[in-house]
Amino acid sequence: MREIITRFAPSPTGYLHIGGLRTALFNYLFARANNGKFLLRIEDTDLARNSVEAMEAIIEAFKWVGMDHDGEVLYQSKRFDLYRTYIDKLLDEGKAYYCYMSKEELDSLRESQKARGETPKYDNRYRDFKGTPPKGIQPVVRIKAPLEGYIEFNDGVKGNIKVGARELDDFIIARSDGSPTYNFVVTIDDALSKVSDVIRGDDHLSNTPKQIIVYNALGFDVPNFYHVPMILNPQGQKLSKRDGAMGVMDYKKDGYLPEAILNFLVRLGWSYKDQEIFSMQEMLNFFNPKDLNSSPSSYNQEKFLWLNAHYIKEKSNDAIEILLQEFECPKLPSTKRDVLYAALKDRVSTLKDFASMAREILTPPSIYDEKSLSKIDEQSPEMLKKLLDSLKNSSLDTPQNCNECLHHFMEQHNIKPGKFMQPLRLALLGKPGGIGLAEAIYIIGKEDTVKRIEKFCKLIIS
Ligand code: GLU
Repeated sequence: MREIITRFAPSPTGYLHIGGLRTALFNYLFARANNGKFLLRIEDTDLARNSVEAMEAIIEAFKWVGMDHDGEVLYQSKRFDLYRTYIDKLLDEGKAYYCYMSKEELDSLRESQKARGETPKYDNRYRDFKGTPPKGIQPVVRIKAPLEGYIEFNDGVKGNIKVGARELDDFIIARSDGSPTYNFVVTIDDALSKVSDVIRGDDHLSNTPKQIIVYNALGFDVPNFYHVPMILNPQGQKLSKRDGAMGVMDYKKDGYLPEAILNFLVRLGWSYKDQEIFSMQEMLNFFNPKDLNSSPSSYNQEKFLWLNAHYIKEKSNDAIEILLQEFECPKLPSTKRDVLYAALKDRVSTLKDFASMAREILTPPSIYDEKSLSKIDEQSPEMLKKLLDSLKNSSLDTPQNCNECLHHFMEQHNIKPGKFMQPLRLALLGKPGGIGLAEAIYIIGKEDTVKRIEKFCKLIIS
């Protein structure tokens, strides 16, 4: 059986986006599930538009999500001499030729074709040129595309694709400065790396017939192609910054877990029964590019957050504590930490929110929710002062003790929870909602709890 070799081949002209990472993931899963190889190639031939930061961000993102690649990263910019040997080979074999058409000539040809309602296309005028080359023109190299028949291939997602030779022209494989073009180098690299399966965005579908022409000219095996439809926003439009077109590492900064990102991405354009949650092992067990969807997938932020919340809940508290270091989350003794984390795990969807809620609880409130403040009645200061006595006389060294203390207090003074909880919550946390009060008191600690209530009493009395 042939070895499955896949690759991810980003152009480092912008940051690695979620769509790129999804392409990488599909390739990664297919290779790993079949004991094959997954290669990483940086397509940095556009020297003017490359960015070192973008390249580094790709490697960083791969590390972060735990997608390892086989072998060295291949940089196209370092392989120009190699590409040249294949250009020369095609020239020697008469399968490619120098074209001396000036830019002006090409422009005017295009204009006249357009005026006749034809699709602009090079007219092969130098295809069999034997004369003396015009002076002062640095020629490009064009490949001889078939003049008749079809270029046909079976796309694993789109089905059978058949393009008439008339629709293709002798396209450029080396520019006048000698630099090779995208469709040429992709083919050379995929062929030399023995790539068996190419999974990529369907924006490359129209390039594939050209690449097949190069494969055929050089006698290379043509890989299997899978062109995956785009990820669209819920309105069916191209993703914008607002709905997901951010760099992958921005998700890390926003408190997403790599497990959630991978799980979210694998379901964009692929499904297995009606399962939503996939561990890496399950993805490896079930992923098959044959099941890739041929219609565009939709980016659903709510689902992404739901998955992230799920993976946060699954993490051990030790693991969360380490992850929270990046979000400036104060440290706590482990018993208190475990109570706080258990409460927050049920309430947050991102690590960023986790840390900010933890900070809020651990920092004495400096402002109080206005609306709740306006509802505080005259009995509240008195009641809170009595509570202070009870709290001071209780041990408060477990959440259960804190709970008992509060309940005992309410019973003793015959106070209804509704009357009692609101002012206490405001005193401790500054706003309505949030974690249970017994847990809050335990986490904040007796001394600080007392201080917070005293400060609040002063405020509402004055
Ligand atoms: N470098 C191309 C891109 O970033 C991908 C080429 C390919 O996968 O064949 O869109």
